[in-house]
Amino acid sequence: MAAHQQNKPSGERNRKNTQNGSRTLQVQWGRAWEVDWFSLASIIFLLMFAPLIVYYFIMSCDQYQCSLMDPLVDLLTGNKHLSDIWNKTPVLTYKAAGMYTLWVAFQVVLYVFIPDFCHKFLPGYAGGVQEGAITPAGVVNKYEINGLQAWIITHVLWFANAYYFHFFSPTIIFDNWIPLLWCANILGYIVSTFALIKGYFFPTSAADCKFTGNFFYDYMMGIEFNPRIGKWFDFKLFFNGRPGIVAWTLINLSYAAKQQELYGQVTNSMILVNVLQGIYVLDFFWNEAWYLKTIDICHDHFGWYLGWGDCVWLPYLYTLQGLYLVNHPVQLGTANAIGILMLGLIGYYIFRVTNHQKDLFRRTNGNCKIWGKKPEYIECSYMSMDGTKHYSKLMTSGFWGWARHFNYTGDLMGSLAYCLTCGFDHILPYFYIIYMTILLTHRCIRDEHRCFSKYGKDWKRYTAAVPYRLLPGIF
Ligand code: NDP
Repeated sequence: MAAHQQNKPSGERNRKNTQNGSRTLQVQWGRAWEVDWFSLASIIFLLMFAPLIVYYFIMSCDQYQCSLMDPLVDLLTGNKHLSDIWNKTPVLTYKAAGMYTLWVAFQVVLYVFIPDFCHKFLPGYAGGVQEGAITPAGVVNKYEINGLQAWIITHVLWFANAYYFHFFSPTIIFDNWIPLLWCANILGYIVSTFALIKGYFFPTSAADCKFTGNFFYDYMMGIEFNPRIGKWFDFKLFFNGRPGIVAWTLINLSYAAKQQELYGQVTNSMILVNVLQGIYVLDFFWNEAWYLKTIDICHDHFGWYLGWGDCVWLPYLYTLQGLYLVNHPVQLGTANAIGILMLGLIGYYIFRVTNHQKDLFRRTNGNCKIWGKKPEYIECSYMSMDGTKHYSKLMTSGFWGWARHFNYTGDLMGSLAYCLTCGFDHILPYFYIIYMTILLTHRCIRDEHRCFSKYGKDWKRYTAAVPYRLLPGIF
């Protein structure tokens, strides 16, 4: 509580300042200090319904062959009661609890106790100790970047088991999917609640905490910016990357193994999902140091949104295509398969090149070449909470001259490709593209609000130079 009382006045002091001629609030870079009714209503809705949404999707695949309508029809026509569905739902088992505990503990060991060695022999890979971006309080955190190594070790062990040791079946994840859901929820809630308590009583960096005074908002969006235990266990980096994203490719492999077991073959659609999402996951770990400069790490506080989201939402809903394909094995025609592959690869190319251009530009402070030329940019300034003035640059060259978030456009193209592998019989596999469109459009708006608060009139000059957000000439 002391930290709370100590922090809030300094935040309020800063809120009264003006910057860059804008009337917006100085150093309000992250989430809103004052919670409007719409944000509060959305948060309460998500806290209440997000776990149910995940359950509904997974249950519909378990009991209704991935039809989202059939459970509703059954319930509305009185054909079934909620208790019928609930009674058919697999319960938490000791086996799942043991598996999940072992899984998370193994990832903790890989994260905390095995310093990165990949950067010593992989040319171009930035692993080992890396610095994050400067926080609003002026802190620069150091991170041990060893996600690629954790991913490689985990997958080598997975394949060694599948092809040589046979300690467990590669379908183990699919076979325990709902019992594991309960474990993931338990961890998600424990982590988020712990983060809230830690924010109040023993924050890692008190000056970077954010209190809105609204319990639900603080629980959901987080108080602490970069909660840590000890020097290296960073909650944001660990929970987003490790149990969630390392698991993503393993979950897909387990789905492919289940197809093989059930139908004696793996369909080309399942291979496409594994390959395209595998590229996305590997890209994430290859560029983990770059991830330190993304909104998740640079601007979001750690609460239920990231804690529960990383444990439950991401592994369960980002992998719906594979789950769907176990229930509905789709064999695509060659032309369709090639078309989807091209869409996915072009989307990935745009996503990667756009992100790389900004990263290169920021790392070299503009002393680089973008598409063979010196980049153009807008000079801008901002203040950190200690009153220090900093300078930055917003690039207007390359894909960043086409639209202000062309990286999101590439991401959306890739997301659409995953969904298209599943054909058009059901809406469930399209959840991902619908969700990503909402997430990334909302992110555009949220990020631009923050950037305007940070850079003031310099941000306006930038938006005048690059008028579109996602699609040049349209939005
Ligand atoms: P960005 O990487 O686009 O980062 C936005 C930040 O970059 C801004 O806040 C600003 O920060 C800086 N910036 C903005 N414009 C410029 C410019 N013209 N020149 C230089 N710097 C600029 O956003 P995200 O962190 O949201 O996304 C990173 C990637 O992750 C994206 O490709 C996105 O698609 C992906 N993603 C994927 C998700 C998933 O669930 N699969 C979820 C979220 C993101 P500053 O304050 O430093 O100026």
